[in-house]
Amino acid sequence: MLRWSAHPPGASCQPLLRLASAVVLLTAGNAVSVPVSPSLSSSSSALSFFSRGTSPRSTTAVWLPEHVLMYPALYKHKTQMHSHRNDLTAAANTVSIGGNDGGGEGKEAVVRDTTQRSNKEFRLPASLRPIHYSVRVQPFINGNYSVHGSVQIDIEVLQATSNITLHVYGMDIHTHGIQLQAAEGDEETASVPQITHFVDDLDVEIFTAHLDGVLEAGRRVRYTIPYEGTLAFYMGGFYGHRYTDVDGTDKHMVSTLSQPADARIAFPCFDEPQFKATFEVHVARQVNMTAVSNMPLLTTTSIEDQEGWVWDRFQTTPPMSTYLLILVVMSLPHINVTAHRQDLPIRVWARQEALDRMSFLHQFVPVLMDFMETYTNTSYSLPKLDIIVVPGKEGLAFEGWGAIIVYDEHFMLYDPLEDDEMDFARVTWVQAHELAHQWFGNLVTPRWWSDLWLSEGISSYMSDFAMQETAMVSQSVIEQARSAVHELFPEDDKVTAVPVFNQQIDVFSQDTYFNVFSYFKSSLLLRMMAHVLSHHAFRKGMVTFLHEHQYGSVVQDDLFRHLTKAAHEAYTLPQDLSVKTILDTWIHETGYPLVTVTRSPSGISATAYQEKYLWLQDDSLPIDHFSTWWVPLTYTTQDLPDFSDTRVKVWLKDTETQTPVHNLPPKDQWVIFNLQQTGYYRVNYDDHNWNLLIQQLLTDHQLIHVNNRVQMIDDILNLASSGKVSYKIALSLVEYMKNENETLPWRVFQRNMEHMKQILETTPAHEGFKKYMWSLLVPLWDLVGFEKITEVQTIQQKHSQAVKWACHYSLPSCVHLAASLYAQWMLTPENIKVVPRDLWGTVYCTAIAHGGEAEWDFAWQQYFLSNDTHHKEQLVAALSCSRDTWAENGYLDLALTSETKLRTQNTLQMFYSVASSSGGKPLAWNFLTRRWSALVSLYGDSGAAAEQLVVAAAETLTSQQDMEKLRVFRESHRDNPRVVAASKVALDIVARNVAWMEKNYDVICDWLHSRGFYVRLR
Ligand SMILES: [Zn+2]
Repeated sequence: MLRWSAHPPGASCQPLLRLASAVVLLTAGNAVSVPVSPSLSSSSSALSFFSRGTSPRSTTAVWLPEHVLMYPALYKHKTQMHSHRNDLTAAANTVSIGGNDGGGEGKEAVVRDTTQRSNKEFRLPASLRPIHYSVRVQPFINGNYSVHGSVQIDIEVLQATSNITLHVYGMDIHTHGIQLQAAEGDEETASVPQITHFVDDLDVEIFTAHLDGVLEAGRRVRYTIPYEGTLAFYMGGFYGHRYTDVDGTDKHMVSTLSQPADARIAFPCFDEPQFKATFEVHVARQVNMTAVSNMPLLTTTSIEDQEGWVWDRFQTTPPMSTYLLILVVMSLPHINVTAHRQDLPIRVWARQEALDRMSFLHQFVPVLMDFMETYTNTSYSLPKLDIIVVPGKEGLAFEGWGAIIVYDEHFMLYDPLEDDEMDFARVTWVQAHELAHQWFGNLVTPRWWSDLWLSEGISSYMSDFAMQETAMVSQSVIEQARSAVHELFPEDDKVTAVPVFNQQIDVFSQDTYFNVFSYFKSSLLLRMMAHVLSHHAFRKGMVTFLHEHQYGSVVQDDLFRHLTKAAHEAYTLPQDLSVKTILDTWIHETGYPLVTVTRSPSGISATAYQEKYLWLQDDSLPIDHFSTWWVPLTYTTQDLPDFSDTRVKVWLKDTETQTPVHNLPPKDQWVIFNLQQTGYYRVNYDDHNWNLLIQQLLTDHQLIHVNNRVQMIDDILNLASSGKVSYKIALSLVEYMKNENETLPWRVFQRNMEHMKQILETTPAHEGFKKYMWSLLVPLWDLVGFEKITEVQTIQQKHSQAVKWACHYSLPSCVHLAASLYAQWMLTPENIKVVPRDLWGTVYCTAIAHGGEAEWDFAWQQYFLSNDTHHKEQLVAALSCSRDTWAENGYLDLALTSETKLRTQNTLQMFYSVASSSGGKPLAWNFLTRRWSALVSLYGDSGAAAEQLVVAAAETLTSQQDMEKLRVFRESHRDNPRVVAASKVALDIVARNVAWMEKNYDVICDWLHSRGFYVRLR
């Protein structure tokens, strides 16, 4: 499953979601007030994002807009899930479990278990195993949204038991109709025990039938349960959707969406992934609709007493987990996609107008399917593949076996004439991930959710690898995709990080396991292992792993065993070392190592020292500072630079904090560790080696692999902000950026510099810093030019990024360009294409910042005239870019004026935009204290959103006076615990900013001065 934006389920969640996207706004180096699609964080993590703040480190929890989509955060929205479950619980409690098909007998037979959930077992016992399900359902999509169903489960008894326990949730069980009888293959002659009563435990969603005798091991029984459920218009179980078709008519459709634990809402089942069984699906539908399931349609028969209805029966599936069962009833049209082999029908279903923009699938899907079959040496397991695109923008895709469902039409559209390569990469990456799941996750399935990474991490890795190997997108775009490590590090060194393998998961709190660590950290660890073991051995291990466990379920040790065997056979791993030994230190541990390389006086040897990297040294935090890893050390040297050999040269073991490295060149030549950054760790050097590297970068940076240039930029700026390296060295190293014209190093550089930009903005060093940035940007700007940018089709990532960065730093030629484009638009307001779509935010913001009242007023009018949500967001952000205090102040007040009819979410966005704009912080803070009660009333009594504004407003406050203001604010709201809590977070951020300023400000001023960017020292 992939989730790239949390869909706000209701108004109460919306502000939090917007908040998270505002974090991106505040910190993304290349985003000049460019709003990004919502959003990347669960409500619970939104605060933790802020708790890191933009404090002396701009890489803070930043997912660049591209990566919000490309590498979406996948936290399932906890609040959303819990509130839905609570709603269901409340509803279920009022409903008779006895059902509506008889008298009171059934009701009396049901006992409610009211034990506290925390003390209950939510896993099913191991005494039973489902073998086969026959599921019959009739969803009344165009009626009262009820679902009439019946499930017949053939069960094998593994251990003698006197009850039958499975999952049920949010439905009426017709207990009178429940039957338990001998199943086919039951060789016992003894009769089957009878059910005495049922216990329905809503807390753990377990429904138990108690028997009057014992079912002995080896028996096979058939358990039949009739029930009635409801179509849910939220993500779970039978998920109902309403949408408007091209002709303006309202349409309904339904799809199952069951990962991880919602199949039990669709039908009673053994709802844990290790319980694999075959499924025979029957669905009743109206004749003008279509049903799709995992397998091809077998028969269609009319229903005698229901005119206009038919039963569709589908072929029986291979053994699979319940969460993978797909059932869709819809009236969408489809196209046939040419497959890579003739016997595989592939259909794509979507609204007609969307289908017209999915022609890229004809090329993409067969290539990817062919790649996956070849790589895994395993044919795709099912006789067909459907891809169903549900209208809407849920930001979710699910890997249904044989039937992938994409809950975001928007994310399936690609127009080669309009969109660029990055758009193509975004769209195709998601498809590649879901296609990879057809093998990893569907064919071989993690036994339990703690091993989720075996499905999600492998699919993410395969998606990256397949995109690269099939050359579907250019190398530079692939490299951007790989930059994930730079965006993951700041997440992984937080105290809120969790290990990839999380034993203590609560199945109902999905953000404990559906998170960036199980999806992307694990993917990067697999990439590391592929380099350690060699791609050949790695692939061999993956293939035998797949072959041995296909149609079964696995734990991580299964994968480790296969990889070890393959590596030992290929002699790429010492015989006394196993993949388990290595990966256990990475998978069970949060964070990552910082490897510090200190060379001897002669240079020919060095000591490599490992420690857990903590950006924030806080002694009060309960962190194990002494974690160690098995770190694969790779390196190259100036005398023989070779960045291609990524085999391990030295192991830094988990039993040692340091190891010697020999045979290095003399001290006048540099060494570089972690080649291509295939290892998941940062590297620091002694000052002398850093200086050698700086000289190399300034004289010929291309001698160093681009991935290592990116690594050095990211590492040195992080190490400087955490106080491990002087800013003198860091700023000297990134001076080479004036020679750099690759996009990825620039992207990482910009992101890392953003905090410094924001924090210096209100200081005398601001002008000098800006001119320093100009000196780095001008060569890139001159290189890419801007003549081409008005031709939409030719915009390349590099051009648009260069324009964004140059305007972000108010480079005069960029300001001029933006102003003239904006002026053209003002002359022809109906022609919004005057400004290329991907530069809307940059051009509007820049033109308004450097313009006057006329520019501001025009954008304000256009906001109300525009029907395009994206365009509206760009305008709202741009309005806050004005440097006129009256405009910003008035703007914020307008946000609270009901007559202006701004959308609530845009109102929040206005605040963040002002707070993050240059000079806007004091305004935002004053506004917050002045209009606090109005804000609280706008966002509800709880003030949940308003309290987040406190934290947001504190982001770039840097002085003791600011801290005092905050304390006063906290005191005046001491009766509101949420404000007090938010103030504490805000105070921490400001305290860190103050400390950063004290430590680094003079150093930075001195350095800027030494380079001729005059700075008045304080
Ligand atoms: Zn997935």
